Amino acid sequence: MSLNSTPPNPKQIKFLIQGSETEPYEVQFTKQGNILIGLCTCEAAKNGMICKHRLNLLAGSHDNIVSDNHNEVNILKTWVTDSTVEPLLKQMNEAQTTIDKATKELKTAKKKLAQALFGRRVM
Ligand SMILES: [Zn+2]
Repeated sequence: MSLNSTPPNPKQIKFLIQGSETEPYEVQFTKQGNILIGLCTCEAAKNGMICKHRLNLLAGSHDNIVSDNHNEVNILKTWVTDSTVEPLLKQMNEAQTTIDKATKELKTAKKKLAQALFGRRVM
């Protein structure tokens, strides 16, 4: 895999992400073996929760990056691939897919119920 104009295999990557505050958030990833550490300076992260700043970067998104290292998102992606974070991300995405499917089914069921209550024939 070639990564043009990126430093060779850095072990730490920092991004500045513009969020709702005036100052951008600092998101820092460190790779050590298969351990991937990701820290962010936002309130959610300070409270021990996952934040969209790290989730977006882990998903390969370039949204709101204000530092000049957009290309390092690709390096981060390779760090995720062989880390203990990967199966957890997968698990989270699968749960989200299940929710999305259930939300769609709920919407359809409500629509049918509404039609039925109007005395309409429901398929
Ligand atoms: Zn954050």
